[in-house]
Amino acid sequence: MRISRETVIMGLIGYPLTHSLSPLMQNQALAYLNFDGVYLPLPATDPAAAIAAVRSFGWRGVNITIPYKEAVITYLDDLSDEAAACGAVNLILNEHGVLTGHNTDGLGFLDALASAGCAVAGMRCTILGAGGAARAVAYSLARAGAESINIVNRDRSRAEGIAQMLGVKTHCTAQAFTWEEAARSVWRVTDLLINATPLGMYPEVDMRPDIDLDNLPWDCLVADLVYNPVQTKLLKEAEQRGLTTLPGTEMLVYQGARSFEYLTGQKPPIAIMMDVVRDYLR
Ligand code: NAP
Repeated sequence: MRISRETVIMGLIGYPLTHSLSPLMQNQALAYLNFDGVYLPLPATDPAAAIAAVRSFGWRGVNITIPYKEAVITYLDDLSDEAAACGAVNLILNEHGVLTGHNTDGLGFLDALASAGCAVAGMRCTILGAGGAARAVAYSLARAGAESINIVNRDRSRAEGIAQMLGVKTHCTAQAFTWEEAARSVWRVTDLLINATPLGMYPEVDMRPDIDLDNLPWDCLVADLVYNPVQTKLLKEAEQRGLTTLPGTEMLVYQGARSFEYLTGQKPPIAIMMDVVRDYLR
């Protein structure tokens, strides 16, 4: 590629960046569209200095990953609704020196559901886990018209925190459960089950969340946010029971596609981005 003064500079800030697929996925998408831009891995040990560099070099924007999704907020000028609700940012856009934090995780998950033909409105959703991904997904599901959201977590107070946020910011009914409480009442009233814990993630591929899949309704959709492996133990066993499943690679690609669109103003080449991710994880 040719770098010129017009080349749009984008990147990913986090530390370490050894496992991130974003540079590969975003650069392939840029190349496919012949877009004059480059997406750099920017491993940074000082988030304040890294954000100052985005400002002073006039870079178009950066994705933010672990461990800085919360820490960068203090250096920004504005936040999107999603980022404010989640208290976390995974994309910073630089509009003529004004830095705005966005969070594309929840919207990416909604796009993944839509691409699978799933309409969220009126659904009873159950989210396993109450970390950053659970919060982002919960907010987007609530905004998209989910009927109710159950949040199941070891630490009940974290699940309650998400339920309270949903109560304040959305019209959705939300309730917190421990795993023991959920086993008694939640699985059989779930239309969409989402694993937002790391259970089943490489190298612990023989793990899965402790839920009785036989208690889920026959038409329940089971989604895993874990994307490595693509086919987790949870998804395999759900499929064996005839349930429809959605792998975490879908959200990974669609949240990246949302970022791509914000950063470039171009329609993202989803199929290309999906191929990159699937090839890498094969
Ligand atoms: P996080 O903030 O660290 O939260 C992890 C959550 O999982 C916490 O609620 C924690 O419960 C729970 N948990 C951890 N180990 C557990 C165990 N052994 N049993 C039961 N619960 C357990 O992580 P995150 O950022 O939300 O990410 C969660 C998962 O989503 C990760 O696997 C991540 O890779 C994946 N993810 C995927 C995408 C995508 O694009 N596909 C995007 C973001 C995240 P406690 O609160 O009780 O500790």
